[in-house]
Amino acid sequence: MKCKVCREHAVVDVRRHNAGFCRDHFVKHIHDQVARTIKDFKMFSPDDRILVAVSGGKDSLAVWDVLLDLGYDATGFYLGLGIGGYSDRSKDAAVAYAEAKDAKLIVRTLAEEHGYTVPELAKLTGRVPCSGCGLNKRYEFNRAALEEGFDILVTGHNLDDEVATLFGNVLHWNTDMLARQAPVLEERVIGRDTVFVKKVKPLVRIAERESAAYALLKGIDYIVEECPMVEGNTQHRYKEAITLLEEASPGTKQQMYFGFLKKAAPKFAGEADDAEVVACSECGAPTIAHEGREPRCSFCKTKALALKRKDERR
Ligand code: SF4
Ligand code: ZN
Ligand code: ZN
Repeated sequence: MKCKVCREHAVVDVRRHNAGFCRDHFVKHIHDQVARTIKDFKMFSPDDRILVAVSGGKDSLAVWDVLLDLGYDATGFYLGLGIGGYSDRSKDAAVAYAEAKDAKLIVRTLAEEHGYTVPELAKLTGRVPCSGCGLNKRYEFNRAALEEGFDILVTGHNLDDEVATLFGNVLHWNTDMLARQAPVLEERVIGRDTVFVKKVKPLVRIAERESAAYALLKGIDYIVEECPMVEGNTQHRYKEAITLLEEASPGTKQQMYFGFLKKAAPKFAGEADDAEVVACSECGAPTIAHEGREPRCSFCKTKALALKRKDERR
């Protein structure tokens, strides 16, 4: 196969676009796709201070790399989850990338910030690791962005991630989640305080295979191994199912996701949970108001439960 731009030997074949690319034109193709996504969805501008949630994996390092190449002011944020050697190696990958690019990286750990790791949290609360992990990541990414004065939080969710989430939401008809599934979540303000920073996903047009190829061709040394806790992660199973459909019919993922955004998402807009949102009495994060009860967010409740049980077991 030849590069669709220069007719040199192609190193990447993008089946859904029925096109091959040489190294340089593939890198340019990814830059262009991301730049178009940022513009089409009005994600951010060169004046914004951007925080990129970096796990050390291909997607988060790829999105950070593209933003730096495009000239954006993008700082990395790595959150240590305490998942044994996997966390050590993922942190090493994030730190090595930041050093190589001379980019700023903020590092925090759950153990230092809150006194537990993801495996400990799972044991203490009796919930699956991914549930506590997801809750803590969402909370800590947002907290770090607000505390450090960033305007935008970027995550490396790619097309496969978004399609898997959409697939799960449709399987269970989570209409309030469908109402909120978008490449941009606007900031949320309570009174005069921003409580949720604006969150964006610039890789929604990039398939997982493409972000891996991008990282490889750019010489980014990302962590290839998967989190050892991924077993039983339902999102992971949906991804496998959708990959089978994509192989049989290239373009399925893109059609499903962008078709949803254009044709179905507006129809779910009215389904968004419009319960009153108030500030958590402990940390100020937004939470649903319940009459006669002190407002407390799910992060604070989970943390309190975990630390209480940890204390009892001492
Ligand atoms: Fe966290 Fe689960 Fe992802 Fe591991 S697989 S990083 S536990 S969400
Ligand atoms: Zn070329
Ligand atoms: Zn709280």
